[in-house]
Amino acid sequence: MQAENSRPEVRLQGIAAAPGVSRGPAYLLFQGKAIIACEKISDVEAEIRRFESALSSTRIEIAKLRNEVASRLGENEAAIFDAHLLVLEDVALIDDVSKEVRQTELNIEHCFQEVAQRYIDIFERMEDDFLRERASDIRDVTGRVMNHLLGARPEHKVQSALQQVVVAKDLTPSETATLPTDGVLAFATEEGGQTGHSAIMARALSIPAVVGVKGLLAAIEEGDTVLVDGLAGLVIVNPTSATIENYRGKEIAIRTQRDRVMQEIRLPDCTRDGHTFAIQANIGGPEDMLGAHEYYAHGVGLYRTENLFLRLDDWPSEEEQYAEYAEVVRRAQGKTVTFRTLDLGGDKRLGDLTDEANPFMGYRAIRLCLDRPDIFRPQLRAILRAAVHGSVAVMFPMISSLDELRQAKQFFQATLKELVDEGVIHSTMPRLGAMIEIPSAALLANHLARELDFFSVGTNDLVQYLLAVDRGNQRIAKLYDPANPAVISTLETIFRAAQNQGIVAAVCGELAGDPHWAPLLIGLGAHELSMTPTAIPEVRYVLRHSTLAELKDLVVRVQSQTEGVVIKKILSDFKLSKLNYH
Ligand code: PEP
Ligand code: MG
Repeated sequence: MQAENSRPEVRLQGIAAAPGVSRGPAYLLFQGKAIIACEKISDVEAEIRRFESALSSTRIEIAKLRNEVASRLGENEAAIFDAHLLVLEDVALIDDVSKEVRQTELNIEHCFQEVAQRYIDIFERMEDDFLRERASDIRDVTGRVMNHLLGARPEHKVQSALQQVVVAKDLTPSETATLPTDGVLAFATEEGGQTGHSAIMARALSIPAVVGVKGLLAAIEEGDTVLVDGLAGLVIVNPTSATIENYRGKEIAIRTQRDRVMQEIRLPDCTRDGHTFAIQANIGGPEDMLGAHEYYAHGVGLYRTENLFLRLDDWPSEEEQYAEYAEVVRRAQGKTVTFRTLDLGGDKRLGDLTDEANPFMGYRAIRLCLDRPDIFRPQLRAILRAAVHGSVAVMFPMISSLDELRQAKQFFQATLKELVDEGVIHSTMPRLGAMIEIPSAALLANHLARELDFFSVGTNDLVQYLLAVDRGNQRIAKLYDPANPAVISTLETIFRAAQNQGIVAAVCGELAGDPHWAPLLIGLGAHELSMTPTAIPEVRYVLRHSTLAELKDLVVRVQSQTEGVVIKKILSDFKLSKLNYH
């Protein structure tokens, strides 16, 4: 059987970027280059002034879009546009364009296009997946500058793709961020990967998406029906009636499951047999409190305070920090906000302070703070002052020894005393915790627990340091395997230490928000799971539909295995038994 337009069914495999299945008419997004005239000019300086004015209009436009995205999706997604603003500040790019105009005496549009294309080509040729995908960021920003030069209004053609499936070579982050979520059914792109910003945004927007589909544009014509299976990473062009029928069951099952998950979003964090746990939110700034409340997070389990520094690309003053922290605490409306003190370094660089050969093992987080009281002190003062607006806990990142923890605590107490002596309004001593994300801290967990109120396990780093696998290196991504039994027994050691000393054990790395892993974490003894707010509904659902006995049994089954693949299969089967999305 064939689809109505009688073109044959074609199946194309791509990369699953955002879950869900949707089907509809193809909306082919034309992303052809504008034809730019090439003309001799007489006034070079006037041409360069036009360029500067286009740059400044683009800055205003991106800053506006950034704020819209921050309130719609959150600070983490908005940070993409901070990177775009940086492209506009790139001195090398700006100088190259001015030089090109002066040397060739050709119009600015032509010169700008030439230089921008050179930059895009360089990134597109890069071997590293992550860097190659940055070409789409540069294309996005330079396209906006060109629109201003040409006097064209920035178009969001994609916004007219209502009830259609957007098909494109690649989607820029701004195109993805402005997709009407209640209108676009799904999207498929020929380029892009799992770490691409459009894939990240699709997940945050809950739009099914498949990226990196080779031959996509050649296979689709306007008017074709396209089915996007964001779970299997499959695009089916002109599905036959048999395929549609097959998928209809799947689509209904997924929709029904989602509805069910959302219906339980307000119910308490408690297993079927009454074991309580707490789901919390990971945030990067005041705007993210919206999502935390929307999904009924118990509080904030991780406030990544370095985001303010990265957003400003500068060192904020105590007052600037106080203003932001107080806003977060106020918006939390009495729920506890767990501040993580500054975690700069690693892949979070600021200026040349953290520019070094081996950054993940280097001058990072608490190491930097203990070495730089001029940075640590204002942050702790700002946190203690902001704490009077609600409930606050504080934790230190990258603790590797008892000595380091004691130094951090002493510094904290000295800062508190300083505020008392100065008569500055501040809170009393908040609950203090440490991120457990370095293997030595896991091994010392029993000792550390005696001196703390809580642990928060940073699984992102813990896995990286335990397995010696750089968490951001695409080439060795296969080796970054949390199902390695060494990771699981380390988690058990940490939770047992917390239990022995009667302190709270939380997890705030990505594993906490993964419905495959959350049951194992609770079974192993975690009390709190903190995650990106959009991950909350599924995790809450899976746990609410389990009994503690089932979770303990899951732990026993997982711990009897020695191979990661088998462990992942056990976790996947358990998740599917509670939440059947396949
Ligand atoms: C972690 O390491 O798991 C964590 C939550 O911290 P970050 O991802 O910010 O390093
Ligand atoms: Mg970490």
